[in-house]
Amino acid sequence: MDKLVKAITKDGFFRIYAADTRETVNAAQKYHKLSPVCCAALGRLMTAGVMMGTMLKGDEPTLTLQMNGDGPLGMMASVSDPEGHVKGYCANPRVDLPLNEKGKLDVGKAVGSGTLGVIKDLHMKEPYIGHVPIQTGEVGDDIAFYFMQSEQTPSVVGLGVLVDTDYSVKGAGGFIIQVMPECDEESLSKLENSIGGIMTLTEMFERGMTPEEIIKYLMLGFDVEFLETMEIGYHCDCSKERMERAIVSLGKEQITEILNDTGEAEICCRFCDRKYKFGAEDLKRFIERAK
Ligand SMILES: [Zn+2]
Repeated sequence: MDKLVKAITKDGFFRIYAADTRETVNAAQKYHKLSPVCCAALGRLMTAGVMMGTMLKGDEPTLTLQMNGDGPLGMMASVSDPEGHVKGYCANPRVDLPLNEKGKLDVGKAVGSGTLGVIKDLHMKEPYIGHVPIQTGEVGDDIAFYFMQSEQTPSVVGLGVLVDTDYSVKGAGGFIIQVMPECDEESLSKLENSIGGIMTLTEMFERGMTPEEIIKYLMLGFDVEFLETMEIGYHCDCSKERMERAIVSLGKEQITEILNDTGEAEICCRFCDRKYKFGAEDLKRFIERAK
């Protein structure tokens, strides 16, 4: 099971989240047969999603992160909740691109430019929807920009996925450091200095660093208090009932068309690839229920 750790500094100036998402991203890779660059892109988005999901409060809230870029990967999305469940998909999971000039998977190019949408459904009247322009498409930068722009919370966001030669995930995870409003200049420049020369996440994975160790390493010189450790993982909550509702929502006309054309319907969950089949009798039932 993957793990997420929350911490604060004792002065209350910084809130820190760190997660190990290797198994979670590996599950996404297997469901969607992701190419390395897609695995890195979606893995980073889901890693941010799972950490941000745990920031939500309310009655069964969900957080959706949606990157709509004009790159070859197309749209990608991550859906998460405060329990540490996350799922995701991308439109074109098999995109292959040459490495960038740093010799890394070219996530920025795969994503392209467009918008990052953050949707918080707190089951109140209307969901909260925030949109910001994609900055680099490298995901971490884009999430940091969102926090600054839409939530006025300066944040340091690190996200990384290390894909092995057999396309399995060798390491995945990330961190978010949020600067609280009461933080003073001195502490801020101390943080800037301490994270200025840190090793990359890839190096941290290669050393097998745990989320706690990553937090201690990032916050060297600060008095850190660990608040919570949670188990996290890939989880899809699709069900036959949900798929039924999706078909019913198509409306009488369209369902009748499906019934006349093929006499049955098969829906594939885009998050976990599970297939749901409905026969002619089911479709007739849905027509009765539909508008
Ligand atoms: Zn599913």
